[in-house]
Amino acid sequence: IADVRLSGRTRVLTVSNQKGGVGKTTTAVNVASALAAVGARVLVIDLDPQGNASTALGVPHTADVPSVYDMLIDEFPLADIVQTSPESDNLLCAPSTIHLAGAEIELVSQVAREHRLKTALDDYLAQSTERLDFVIIDCPPSLGLLTINAFTAAHEVLIPIQCEYYALEGLSQLLGTVRMIQKHLNPGLHLSTIILTMYDGRTRLAQQVAEEVREHFPNEVLHTVIPRSVRVSEAPSFGQTVIAYDGQSAGAIAYREAAVEIIQRDTATHGVSENEGNA
Ligand code: ADP
Ligand code: MG
Repeated sequence: IADVRLSGRTRVLTVSNQKGGVGKTTTAVNVASALAAVGARVLVIDLDPQGNASTALGVPHTADVPSVYDMLIDEFPLADIVQTSPESDNLLCAPSTIHLAGAEIELVSQVAREHRLKTALDDYLAQSTERLDFVIIDCPPSLGLLTINAFTAAHEVLIPIQCEYYALEGLSQLLGTVRMIQKHLNPGLHLSTIILTMYDGRTRLAQQVAEEVREHFPNEVLHTVIPRSVRVSEAPSFGQTVIAYDGQSAGAIAYREAAVEIIQRDTATHGVSENEGNA
């Protein structure tokens, strides 16, 4: 079995790409579930008004449910909105509701509008009795204030790239935004991980896209690629990740391997002592 010692720190990753339909939410929830399955304690923060991550994690998110909207706009403590996914006691979710659709506009006039998520998360981590290993933020498909809140709160950016036409289109704008955030709001932010998603190895195009992305980002792209798989796309309609829905499917296996890589690449960079691992 793979070495999955955890770092002992809370790693905050934001899953971002201003393109829609590239696999952000699918990657956020499946990596989170796979991390939880190997013993990590994981919080998913659903920052997309669509609420697809909340749905996939089986967490209620109707309009009456306290949500990230209340946290960002009305300063509800994060602890008051967090729910546990039925999938695992280790898997938590701060849900999004339809109210979040208005937050992008409402935030504009708020004090410390870029720092709202970071402040709420820092308070939560300081007060929480049980340590979190990972916080994974699922972003909407835009570079607006919700995504900027995610970049300000995170240590690492995880970019899913769909192995299709125009895969790299828009990437320079995304990286430009990351640099702007590093300069003005969060010097510690860095692009740590790129995941190739919806890979169909039978097509020459997918292979070409994968090669091109690996050439540009040799250190960031995970070895594991996520195959295009019907089981992955079916799972959310059952309120599940593919890890729970069909754990033996190719998509589930790939996301588990990706999760192990994410853990190992970090411990490889920073080192980990036995003590930290057990802290
Ligand atoms: P985003 O959050 O970037 O908008 P999603 O994660 O919602 O993208 O994915 C877009 C669509 O593609 C969804 O219908 C999802 O089920 C499907 N999808 C994502 N990854 C895969 C995959 N590996 N195989 C098949 N379908 C996928
Ligand atoms: Mg999404």
